[in-house]
Amino acid sequence: MRLSILGRYSPFPRAGSACPGYLLRSGEENLLLECGSGVVSRLSEFISPYELDHVVISHLHGDHCSDLAVLKYAANYDVSPGARATRRATDPAREERGRGITVYAPGEPADEFARIPHKDAMRAEAIDESTSLQIGPFHLTFAKTEHPIPCVAVRVKCEGKTLAYTADTALCDSVIDLARGADLLLAEASLPEGCSSFGGHMTASEAGEMALGADVGGLLLTHFWPEADVEAAKHAASSRAHCPVDIAIEGRSYDI
Ligand SMILES: [Zn+2]
Repeated sequence: MRLSILGRYSPFPRAGSACPGYLLRSGEENLLLECGSGVVSRLSEFISPYELDHVVISHLHGDHCSDLAVLKYAANYDVSPGARATRRATDPAREERGRGITVYAPGEPADEFARIPHKDAMRAEAIDESTSLQIGPFHLTFAKTEHPIPCVAVRVKCEGKTLAYTADTALCDSVIDLARGADLLLAEASLPEGCSSFGGHMTASEAGEMALGADVGGLLLTHFWPEADVEAAKHAASSRAHCPVDIAIEGRSYDI
């Protein structure tokens, strides 16, 4: 499976950048993980929004889901004589799955969740830590994270490889357990070193601790404050982790 980094900044995008968005691809199948500010623009550098059938959102903070508000228009206009309709006409598997985009997200806060559906073009399905999903070749399981609103970390298995994604979380056992033995851990590193008491997020060194505790094959850091010193974050995480550590680069793809 191939992971492409669409955006890595939070809580707002740096100039010319984007908030969290990660595209997973395997063969002809695409799965978008997170859809923050700027992600739809970046997505179009890799695939057409019309090629997208499924989006998974870890939680309903705006930096992770705000671009759903424009992705729904791409989904809507395509159900008429657009590119998706053409693709479906020539691809029976897509026709079977129905039209439009399905967004999987926690059902709370309820008012945020209620904003996701749009006509026949975008539908919403609630998920939590007990959910498991098979989306094309991607098998997904989840764990509850420590964050101010309901948020799930995601484990994706595909082609015999495993990606674990922390979403937004403080260092906690449930996410370590979910990530255990993954080939790659995509981990948030929001906080400056020494600020781990700020609830619901991790420093880079805590991300390194998580990688160590979960015994993962590699650690990729993301979800940076716009002014973050990412090389310092890499150094801090490397001092704790016992696996290769790298910084997620926007526009770059990683084969897992
Ligand atoms: Zn958040």
